[in-house]
Parts: sequence; C-alpha cells; structure tokens
Amino acid sequence: MYIQHLNISDFFLNSIMSEPTDNNTINPFSVALKQLDEASKIIGIDKGMHDVLAQPKRILIVSIPTRMDNDEIHVFTGFRSQHNDARGPFKGGIRYHPQVSIDEVKALSMWMTWKCAIANIPYGGGKGGIICNPKQMSTGELERMTRRYAYAIADIIGPHTDIPAPDVYTGGKEMSWIMDTYSALKGNFVQPEVITGKPLAIGGSLGRNEATGRGLSFTVREAAKKLGINLRAATVAVQGFGNAGQFAAQLLEEMGAKVVAVSDSQGGISNKNGISIGSARAHKEKTGSVVGFPGSNSISNEEILETDCTILVPAALENQITKNNAANVSAKLVAEAANGPTTPEADEILHKNKIMVIPDVLANSGGVTVSYFEWLQNLRREYWTEEQVNSMLDKKMTEAFSDVYDTHDKYQVNMRNASIALAVGRVTEAIKTRGLWP
Ligand code: NAD
Repeated sequence: MYIQHLNISDFFLNSIMSEPTDNNTINPFSVALKQLDEASKIIGIDKGMHDVLAQPKRILIVSIPTRMDNDEIHVFTGFRSQHNDARGPFKGGIRYHPQVSIDEVKALSMWMTWKCAIANIPYGGGKGGIICNPKQMSTGELERMTRRYAYAIADIIGPHTDIPAPDVYTGGKEMSWIMDTYSALKGNFVQPEVITGKPLAIGGSLGRNEATGRGLSFTVREAAKKLGINLRAATVAVQGFGNAGQFAAQLLEEMGAKVVAVSDSQGGISNKNGISIGSARAHKEKTGSVVGFPGSNSISNEEILETDCTILVPAALENQITKNNAANVSAKLVAEAANGPTTPEADEILHKNKIMVIPDVLANSGGVTVSYFEWLQNLRREYWTEEQVNSMLDKKMTEAFSDVYDTHDKYQVNMRNASIALAVGRVTEAIKTRGLWP
C-alpha cells in the first residue's frame, strides 16, 4: 500500500488526476469554484481568503489492495478530500462509484463546508470515495475493501478531526465496518463518534433515515410562508423515489400538499387527483418501481420536471434541470433534495422566471444535521427520542432557512448565491478569528 499526502495546488494532481471534461460533462469542481467566486464578490472577501477556500486543505489518495473472492488481488483507488476545518472537524460522506474522481470529491468536500456552515453546526467539509462498482462485488469483497480503506485513512480521520458518513452506494453496513476497524486500530475500544449514519445497534440515531426528507419539508414549509403558498392547496412532483424523495413526498403529504407525480430510474407516474405515498411505496417495494401504480398515468423522467405543480423536488441525480428544460419548469418553488440537480445556466433561467430554488446545501442539510445529533449522542453516550431529534431538526432547519432568506434579501441575490455567501462569510470569519499559525 502507498499513501500519498499531496498538496492539492500541486500541478501534477490537477493535471493528471482531474476528470477529463467535454462539452457534455460539467466538471463539478469548476461549478463549485464559480459559486465561490460569485459568493466572494457578493460579500466582498479579499483574494487571499478566496484562495484559501478555493482548494481543499488536504487530499489523501490511497491504494486499496483487496483480496477478491477468486483469490486474486485487485487494487482499488480511494480518496479523502478535507476542504476546510476552521469551524470544526471535517464532515462528509464516502461514496463508492466507478466514476468517482478527484474533482468530484474536491467539489463535494467544498459543498460540505458550505452546508455545515449554513446549517450552523460546528463542522467543516470533507468527502471521500473509492473507484469501484459495488453492485458487482460480494459482501465479503466490500467488507475487505472497506476495512482496508478505513485502515488507509485512519490517521487522518477521528472523532475530533474528520467524521465520515454514508453517501452514494454506502450505508450502515460500511459505516459499521469503518467504525470497527478504526476502533480496533486506535486503542481497541469502541469509538462510535468517529463516523455517523451507523445502524441503531451501534449508536446510530433515531430519525436519521428520514432526516433529509424531513429537513427538506421544513424548508419548503418556510419558503411557502414567504411566497404565500398554501401547502394545503399545493401540488408536488418528486423526481427520484429513494430515501430522500420518498420521505420528502411523505412529509409534504402530511403537511397537506397533494403529490401529483413521482418517478424512479424506471420512469414516472402522475395522477392529478393525488398519489398516496404509502401505497406508492408499497407498490415499489413489491414490484421494484413506482411504474404501473394502479390509477396512475405513465410519464418520463424528463416530463416529471415539467409537470404542472406548485413544488418540484428533484431527488435523484445531478444536472437534471438544465438550460434546455429550465424554461419549461412550471413550479413556483424548486426544493433540491439531490446534490447539484440544477446547472448554473438553469439557475439563472429559474431566477429570471421568479421561481424560488431552495438550494441543495440548504434543502438537504437535514441529513448532516441529524448526523451531528448522532455524533453528540455518541460523545455523551446518550440516546435521544425520535421526537427530540425531529424537533431539534425543525429548529435548525427553520433557522437556516431564515438566515439564507435574510441574506438573499440583504444582497438581492438568488437563494443559492445567498446560501454560499452566508457560508463563505461564516467560514472566513472563523479563519480570521483563529488567525494563521505558524
Ligand atoms: P437513493 O438511492 O435512495 O434514491 C435515488 C432514487 O433516484 C431511486 O429511487 C432511483 O431509482 C432514482 N433514480 C435514479 N436515476 C433516476 C433518474 N434518471 N430519474 C429519476 N429517478 C432516478 O438515494 P438518496 O439517498 O435518496 O439520494 C438521492 C439524492 O439526494 C442524491 O443526489 C444524494 O446525494 C442526495 N442526498 C441524499 C441524502 C440522504 O440522506 N439520503 C442527503 C443529502 C443529499
């Protein structure tokens, strides 16, 4: 195994490891930098501070030799990008995907810094990943790869330095292996506070599973008040009926809204009279998709974004609302459960059309907020009730929405620029207050 600590400003890294881009590929790190530039202009930070924030503080690249089931060794590549820790330990997920790239984890770690600052929780931003195809690996192979990765990053993570979490194609199982490996390596006593998103049996939090959708529903409730939308008369379309999308749909339904369209990777369904989320979930559990749900019409994943509705919740993939379809979005409010579902050009079109976007860094921050509650419970060796978790989440999301809305009002900018400006302001204040040493 080799471990390289690289300074990310190193030209080698930027030129060799960056994901090649073409006209059809949007480089996420370029988008993140563009957003930082915009936010820096809005609040007027100096160039030096901008440059500190434009690169992660550290990126670790590790090779992960793993014994496969056929007894051969396969060497995977893994990353951990630590963007900024001025306000607290780095925090962010670990994703397993064949296309994970260094630019992707750099961008995602920067977005985690902003997300935690907007949520006003004492964390910075990090993100990790392994280039692999978990769908083609056995549980044994996944466990050996995960434990080797945990071993390789053990010296830079820790309960007070960097606290990973699940992300694309990782979950409680992987978090348990990482927690166990870390605990065995670092003193051989149980340290649940090194990672969040754990199963309840080893210190996970009640309410974590629903947290992203629930948090999103609170921001929608607050936005509706500002826009004069009566949720009881509102209609909702949700693209992506997974963890975030299902709970967002369910909680908006509980608030009185009518969900008129939902979709998953197989396609979408619509019904002007409303879709019962409980029944649609049961149908998906039985058949593997929402498609074919009794009483509904079939629609495509492109059509769902243009559905006639009050609130649109993209909860699947990035780059779904683009310059090609943004003008056809009829919703009054877009609440981003997914990370990066709207391209910068589409953002401008939505803003021009007076459609409010609750950006990902705000709308889906319920997940990391309840991760923070999990960490607090672990540090204190406490267990909180679901009611406690949910009411604290409500308070945090309501405050975060209000802070972003006030920033949008103060600088007369859209909600995304306002979110990042708010975050950049909080992070630069922490950096300045701490000062530079040595
Ligand atoms: P998930 O895997 O549980 O669900 C994803 C859903 O999207 C699935 O139903 C899948 O069928 C559907 N999907 C895939 N391709 C699609 C397509 N082309 N069109 C429509 N639907 C499609 O994942 P999740 O955890 O719900 O995450 C969804 C998004 O929310 C991701 O962008 C993720 O980064 C973001 N997010 C999730 C959390 C969380 O706590 N779950 C937190 C923050 C952000």
